[in-house]
Amino acid sequence: MEIAIIAHDGKKAEMIQFLMDFKALILAKEIQLVSTGTTGKNAEKAGFKVRKFLSGPYGGDAQIAGRVAEGKTEMVFFFRDPLDKHPHEPDIAMLMRLCDVHDVPLATNPATAELLIKAI
Ligand code: PGA
Repeated sequence: MEIAIIAHDGKKAEMIQFLMDFKALILAKEIQLVSTGTTGKNAEKAGFKVRKFLSGPYGGDAQIAGRVAEGKTEMVFFFRDPLDKHPHEPDIAMLMRLCDVHDVPLATNPATAELLIKAI
């Protein structure tokens, strides 16, 4: 199963903590992680194997949105920072819209992501 992980800068630490908390499950279920560039680099440093796409502001969210549309990414963990502004807001909206269009589970915070990953 392919899961996308994306975290805005203010949420990257929470994403890594989340991945560490569920590392055993991620390995046991053979989850394939894909990510935006910087989130992926952080996850690699924490010991995870990740297929990295472009950094979010350079099109990474749009690339992952494409994978959602193509049925390749089956779940998205997108830890957004609601207290910051983002130059790529249209791409963020597109990713979330395509998750809804294709009925792909989308968690925008760690509490929801925990519920989703426990359901796999
Ligand atoms: P990043 O992108 O992982 O490359 O920082 C995340 C985003 O801003 O959407």
